[in-house]
Order: sequence, then structure tokens, then C-alpha cells
Amino acid sequence: MTALYAGMEAGGTKFVCVVGAGPDDIRAEARFPTTSPEATLGQALAFFREQRAQHGPLTAAGIASFGPVDLDPASSTHGFITSTPKAGWAQTDMVGPVRQALGVPVRFDTDVNAAALGEGRWGAAQGLDTFIYLTIGTGIGGGGLINGKLMHGLVHPEMGHVRIPHDAAADPFAGACPFHGDCLEGLASGPAMNARWGRPAESLPDDHPAWGLEARYLALALNNFVCTLSPQRIVLGGGVMERRSLFPLIHRELQRLLNGYVQAVQLLSHVDRYVVPPAFGGRAGVLGALALATGWSDAPPCR
Ligand code: ZN
Repeated sequence: MTALYAGMEAGGTKFVCVVGAGPDDIRAEARFPTTSPEATLGQALAFFREQRAQHGPLTAAGIASFGPVDLDPASSTHGFITSTPKAGWAQTDMVGPVRQALGVPVRFDTDVNAAALGEGRWGAAQGLDTFIYLTIGTGIGGGGLINGKLMHGLVHPEMGHVRIPHDAAADPFAGACPFHGDCLEGLASGPAMNARWGRPAESLPDDHPAWGLEARYLALALNNFVCTLSPQRIVLGGGVMERRSLFPLIHRELQRLLNGYVQAVQLLSHVDRYVVPPAFGGRAGVLGALALATGWSDAPPCR
């Protein structure tokens, strides 16, 4: 019998839950708007219990969560969302209720680390052991694997909040990050584009100057990630990246910024296969949660 897993993508606007064995074997999927922790987790757990009654026992669960989150196994709040500004969700135990309701091992990570894991196992980064996944949407976040292990460290990477050069004469927009103003997220998230141009990013035509500026900011950040992490590939997902014409702009700008310094054929000749969209598009997060549940790449369960 095929082992079935529970995957839960906990997002700031919606939760997506699946039960299945992989992207080609999804038995059920459900979406719930993110309201209060009690109500939203309650709906998710009710869904998993129903599916268990229908399909049989679940082997393990994976949670891909918005953050910041506590990933330190030695911490008393391991498995919690910590300091989020999202009302009602600060200091929320995510792992405990799932483990209690389902009685299975639970693995927990950031939404972007999980998305990276799913893309590595089944999608756009298969066969690689060092790569990053960034989401460019309501916010900007990044995660990935280094030498086959999920990036954790002190807490977890916050690639969306790196500082990049901001020419205030060329772009007088002050930035939208409540913590830093003009960090990467403050300059290049979907809400930042909306605030700067006075209309939603998806309504801006391909030839609008917004896209050149967006490509410039994203390429500046990618330049820094290439130079610090040496990823074998960079996967860019999230709502803003659904504008596919943005990819070639980023490719050109990244090559221009690196200026031939990093001697890798992937950057010099095949940058279009180096900075790529996710194989799973908007489902990268929930399939990542499923990959996390399977324990792929040695992700240990929460204790
Ligand atoms: Zn910031």
C-alpha cells in the first residue's frame, strides 16, 4: 500500500492542505482563508481527519509556514510562528495541534524552504544539492538547500530583507518594508510595486518601466546570493514572477552585474536555465509541505 502524507501550506491569506504521496498522486486538496489560528487550524485538522477516514492512515505530516518561525529543536517554542505582525498569529504553536490531532511525526519549516525542498525532489531543481527558491509576491522570502540540507542556521534565512543599492534620484519611492523601508522586499514586493506605480503589478503592461526597475532590484539581490551561496540554480516563484517577460530582463541584468566574474557556464551561457520559474507554480508551497512530510533529504521530525 502506498504511504500517504499530509501536507499543509500555512500562508498569510490562505491555508492549502493536501493528502497524497507526491505531485502525481494527490488524493484530496482543500483551501481555507487564514482567519484566527483556532478556526483555520481547526478546519485543516478536520480535513485531514476526514481524509484519514476515507483513505486510511497517514504516515507523517509536513507544515510549510509563513513566518518568522522557530526552527530550533532545543527551543521551548520550536514549531511556533514567532514575531509575525499578522494579527492573532504571533506565538502560535503550529506543530503541537497537528501532532496531537493526527498522532504522526510532524516536520515543520518555512514556506520557502519547503517549496525549495519540493522543487528539489520533484520539480525545477531535481538532481541539485545547493540551490535557492525565492518567492516574490505579497512579501519576498527565500530558502533552499546547501549540500543537500535545508538552510537553517541561527534562525532561517531572510533573503527578502537584504539591503540593495537604491538610487533615490532614479526611484524616489521610499520603500514599503515596515522594518527597513527600502530593503529588497520594501522595493520589489507586489505591494511595493503597487504603492510606487499607483496600480497593481499585474495591471502594468509589459513595456512599462516598472518591469525594468523590478528586474534591476531582483538581479541585484540574485547577484549577492550567487556570490554568497553559490547556488547551482535559482527558482523564482510568487505572484510577481507570473509575469514571464520579467525572466529575460532578470537574466540580462544578472549577467551584466556579474560581468563575467563567476566562471560557470550556467551563468555565462545558460542563464535562462539558471534562473527559472518553479515547476509547480502556485502549488510549490503545498507540494513542498508534502515533500517535507516524507522526510526527504533527511529533514528530521519535530520532537
Ligand atoms: Zn525589510
